[in-house]
Amino acid sequence: MDVVGPRLVLLGAPGSGKGTQAKRIAATLGIPAISTGEMLRQAVANGSELGQRVADVMSAGRLVEDELMSEVVRGRLAAPDARRGFVLDGYPRTAVQATTLDELLGEGGDGLDAVVLLDVPEEVLVERALGRGRADDQEDVVRARLAVYDEQTRPLVELYRECGLLRTVDGGRSIEEVTDAILGAIGGD
Ligand code: AMP
Repeated sequence: MDVVGPRLVLLGAPGSGKGTQAKRIAATLGIPAISTGEMLRQAVANGSELGQRVADVMSAGRLVEDELMSEVVRGRLAAPDARRGFVLDGYPRTAVQATTLDELLGEGGDGLDAVVLLDVPEEVLVERALGRGRADDQEDVVRARLAVYDEQTRPLVELYRECGLLRTVDGGRSIEEVTDAILGAIGGD
């Protein structure tokens, strides 16, 4: 029988290291890292219909509509590699998306195993984001992305704390230390 890996969500502000850590955790556990931001950037780069629809919203640092995101995530989670577990990076970002994710996973039988919050002070976030040099990383866009996180995504921390899935990790340390802390928090080391 296949070894079934965990179904994880990495939660954290832009610049908290979700993308880096999702890849490291996924490689360690042999499950895919699923980054909605990367999927959308790829769509923009390819000039696909999806890419054309999301390009302006992304470059302004705002969120793509929940309904469109549902389609993106539904398709990705249905792929065979995601049946053995996954690390989601950048989804869910709103309460509606959290509900959608529950429904999508419910269709397959089980829910999430853990939601890991990468906790990083705001000054460090701004510094990291400006140093990263991505197209949507000008300072005003960085601030917009942080404001969107505060308003729309931060409430998910409480939601996942209440249902007992939340694990909080200090994300202000070295990449290696944070990876170890995540693996410890999910009981996977
Ligand atoms: P990220 O790389 O996760 O920071 O995502 C980059 C951008 O893609 C975000 O600023 C949003 O415009 C868009 N995006 C990624 N994931 C989502 C999501 N779950 N909901 C809405 N928009 C998203």
